[in-house]
Amino acid sequence: MTDAAELRRRTRELLAAHPPATTDRLDFLRARFDAGLAWVHYPEGLGGLGAPRALQAVVDAELAAADAPDNDPRRIGIGLGMAAPTILQYGTEEQQRRLLRPLWTGEEVWCQLFSEPGAGSDLAALGTRAVRDGEDWVVNGQKVWTSSAHLARWAILIARTDPDVPKHRGITYFVCDMTDPGVEVRPLRQITGEAEFNEVFLTGVRIPDSRRLGGIGDGWRVAQTTLNNERVAIGGTPIPREGGMIGKIAATWRERPDLRTHDLHQRLLGLWVEAEVARLTGVRLRQQLAAGQPGPEGAGMKLNFARLNQEISGLEVELLGEEGLLYDDWTMRRPELVDFTGRDAGYRYLRSKGNSIEGGTSEVLLNIVAERVLGLPAEPRTDKDVAWKDLAR
Ligand SMILES: Cc1cc2nc3c(=O)[nH]c(=O)nc-3n(C[C@H](O)[C@H](O)[C@H](O)COP(=O)(O)OP(=O)(O)OC[C@H]3O[C@@H](n4cnc5c(N)ncnc54)[C@H](O)[C@@H]3O)c2cc1C
Repeated sequence: MTDAAELRRRTRELLAAHPPATTDRLDFLRARFDAGLAWVHYPEGLGGLGAPRALQAVVDAELAAADAPDNDPRRIGIGLGMAAPTILQYGTEEQQRRLLRPLWTGEEVWCQLFSEPGAGSDLAALGTRAVRDGEDWVVNGQKVWTSSAHLARWAILIARTDPDVPKHRGITYFVCDMTDPGVEVRPLRQITGEAEFNEVFLTGVRIPDSRRLGGIGDGWRVAQTTLNNERVAIGGTPIPREGGMIGKIAATWRERPDLRTHDLHQRLLGLWVEAEVARLTGVRLRQQLAAGQPGPEGAGMKLNFARLNQEISGLEVELLGEEGLLYDDWTMRRPELVDFTGRDAGYRYLRSKGNSIEGGTSEVLLNIVAERVLGLPAEPRTDKDVAWKDLAR
């Protein structure tokens, strides 16, 4: 049994064999993965030791104290938060061994080819086709809002393999090599001026069957693992007390007494308390997570995260008055990482608008909470038994 003392011992051994001050960053990260100290709850040989997930904190604290490099998790959020748990649950041993190590070290960035121009909230309606041809699948279609596609080596992709069955049943899940011929990535500029995401055109892309994740036609079930993890990854990231968006406005409040009014103070205090409650709820959610896969509770967390980010960044702009209306830079950038709380108040205000859309819109998450957490009656669904090819589009 790997307990805290054993993990501490192994971490010190790693640090002694690869002193961070004199070891190349990537070499250190690879050694950490090989020592099973990357994500301790993963199996041995895949970056973990099969230890309880909660014990990761023991390793992280030892490494932080030794000033060891990390894998820059914000840069590789889709890989860590969404692709990895799906590969772990549905991947073959060969897929896991090939893909997980460079995913974790950040050598290979991942993106998510799910949404399409005609399929976002109603993701199961997607129309990108994958047709079997010998040992390969030939994929044609268009994806949209693909964050980090311009940086990615790999994508998790869902495509329609059987148009003759109802929409949820004819989908298959693949790993797509973004460097393959037929993959075209074009920037999409968003409200912040940045182009964090892209539209991706797939034209005759050949994906070997060995890169299928899960069974043929079972892609919707596989995608649920990704989507449940996505909500936790977006809304449930651990933050310190007064971290995240609330920390930004609190700092402005402290630094700028000239801006303060009684009314703004009352509103800030209210949001501060709500942010702290949300943070503590996140701690509880992660404790539940340690005992299994995330369930629909992640939807509630993500819902609240989006609302709070928008209210807090809105209050910050209001607090700054005319200054809050200034915007530092409209140049189209291609950011290396998504940082909801980065740059200035104007950026935070505009970027937070996307929080209630990405990873499932707030309306759709409310439906999930209503149906799967509160057990309320489901929305009427008239297309459940209709073949995808016969659906109105
Ligand atoms: C910043 C950002 C990054 C993203 N990154 C990615 C990515 O990397 N990969 C990827 O695949 N996708 C990504 N997305 C796409 C995102 O998942 C979709 O935008 C989202 O699921 C909504 O789909 P849609 O845009 O097609 O809107 P629609 O589904 O067309 O929704 C339009 C409106 O109708 C409402 N609505 C729809 N259905 C219902 C319903 N049943 N009940 C009540 N209201 C409903 C919605 O809430 C919304 O207000 C990203 C989006 C953003 C904003």
